[in-house]
Amino acid sequence: MTRFDQFQLSPEILRGIQDLGFEEPSPIQAECIPAVLRGEDVIGQAQTGTGKTAAFGIPVLERVDPTLNEVQAIILAPTRELAIQVSEELRRIGRPKRVKTLPIYGGQSIGRQIKALQQGIHVVIGTPGRLLDHLRRGTLKVDSVEMVVLDEADEMLDMGFIDDIEEVFRFLPGQRQLLLFSATMPPAIRQLAQKYMRKPKYITVNRGEVTVPIIKQYYYRVLENFKVEALCRILDSEEVDLSIVFCRTKKGVDELTEALQARGYLAGGLHGDLAQQQRDRVMNAFRNGEIELLVATDVAARGIDVGSVSHVINYDIPQDVESYVHRIGRTGRAGRKGFALTLVTPREMKQLRTIEEETGARLKARELPTLEEVAA
Ligand code: ADP
Ligand code: MG
Repeated sequence: MTRFDQFQLSPEILRGIQDLGFEEPSPIQAECIPAVLRGEDVIGQAQTGTGKTAAFGIPVLERVDPTLNEVQAIILAPTRELAIQVSEELRRIGRPKRVKTLPIYGGQSIGRQIKALQQGIHVVIGTPGRLLDHLRRGTLKVDSVEMVVLDEADEMLDMGFIDDIEEVFRFLPGQRQLLLFSATMPPAIRQLAQKYMRKPKYITVNRGEVTVPIIKQYYYRVLENFKVEALCRILDSEEVDLSIVFCRTKKGVDELTEALQARGYLAGGLHGDLAQQQRDRVMNAFRNGEIELLVATDVAARGIDVGSVSHVINYDIPQDVESYVHRIGRTGRAGRKGFALTLVTPREMKQLRTIEEETGARLKARELPTLEEVAA
C-alpha cells in the first residue's frame, strides 16, 4: 500500500492532506505526485471521481514557495463551479503551508478579483475566458509562473475554450511545467499535448478506489412557519444514513436540535459557542452513528469528512455560492451516492437561482411528501 508520507512531501503539506481526511493516495495520485515533483510534464487520464485534483494539487502546492508573493501556478478549469471547488481543495491542502489560492471566473466582479490578486496570491484557478481578461488587462502577473495545469481538459475543449487556452499560453513564460488532466483523451487533446508539452509522461489508471461522487440536488418550496414539519417529513420519507442539517445561526442550530430531539430524532447540534469537549463528543457520536442528524452552522461543519453522510440538508438556504458548494461537498464522498436537499421559502427563490447560475448545477424541484406518503 502506498502512503502519502512515502513521497517527498513537507510536513505542512502532509498535515494539509491529513486535515482533508485523505488517508491514502488514490492510484492516479500515487503515480502523478512523484512525477510532478520531479518537474516532468504529465498527462493524467482517469475517470471522474478518481482524485485528479489532488493528483496535481499536492505536488503543485509542494513546489510553491509561500515566501515569494507572486503567482507561481495557474490552473485552468472549465466552469466557475470547478474553479471554486479546485481552489477550495487546494486552499485546504495548502493552509498549513500558508499558500494562498484564488478562484477567478466570469460573473464575479472583476474589480474584486483585481483587488484579491493584489493580496499576494500564489495559485490562481480560473476559467479560460476570465483568465485571459486579466492577462490582457495586465492585472494577472505571470513572470513567476512555473506550473500550468489544464484540469478537465476534455470538458474545456467541448465547451469551445481551445482558442482561449492557446491565447493564455502565449502570455505565459516559455519555461514552465505543463500538466494536463482529463477523463478522456480525444484527438484534439493529444494534439494540444503534442504542441505544448515536453516529453510528457502519460499516466492512466482504469479504475480507482475512489469513484464518481454522485450528488443529486433537489429543492423543496416551503413556508417559513412549516420548516420543521417539512424537514421531518423529508427525513421520514428518505433513506437517510447520516445527515448534516445546516442552519444559518447558532441559535437556529440550538432550536432545531431541540425540536428534532423532542420528536424522537437522534440529533446533535454543533456550533462555535459550544465547548471543544462538547463538540468532540457530538462529532464522535456522529461518526459512530449514535446520532444520525448533525445540525450545524457552516463554520462548525467545515472540514467534516464523514464517509457515510448520505444527505446534506440546507434547512436554511446558504448565503453564498461558496457555502453551497462547501456544504454539499460533505456528501457523495469517495464515490458514494449523496443527496443535497435545500428548503427554500418563497422569498428565497432568488438566492436559489443565483446558486444555480453560479454553480452551473440544476436543482430539481421536489414536492414535499404528504402525510400519507410518510406513513406508508
Ligand atoms: P476527479 O477530478 O478525478 O473527478 P476529484 O479530485 O474531484 O476527482 O475527487 C473526487 C472525490 O474524492 C473528492 O470528494 C475528493 O475529496 C475525494 N478524494 C480525492 N482523493 C482522495 C483520497 N486520496 N482519499 C479520499 N478521498 C479522496
Ligand atoms: Mg476533476
